[in-house]
Amino acid sequence: MTENIRACARMTCRREATLTLTYAYADSTVVIGPLATRVEPHAYDLCEFHAARLTAPRGWQVVRLEGDAAPPPELGAPVRPPRA
Ligand SMILES: [Zn+2]
Repeated sequence: MTENIRACARMTCRREATLTLTYAYADSTVVIGPLATRVEPHAYDLCEFHAARLTAPRGWQVVRLEGDAAPPPELGAPVRPPRA
């Protein structure tokens, strides 16, 4: 399989997509997170450049998930206090 590299969804852009933008219509929210492992109906792959320049439609908010440092809380291991 050589389809791991996905291109930015912008027509004129040839950069590699590193982020996935998802429209959550129910919440009027645009979610920008780590590149999705599978293609969703309302998701668009974007390069960092275009993800950073994205502006939400009027009345929408943009939520940016930080995917570099740690996985989202719901996917990560439970946080446990350090051993004394
Ligand atoms: Zn782009």
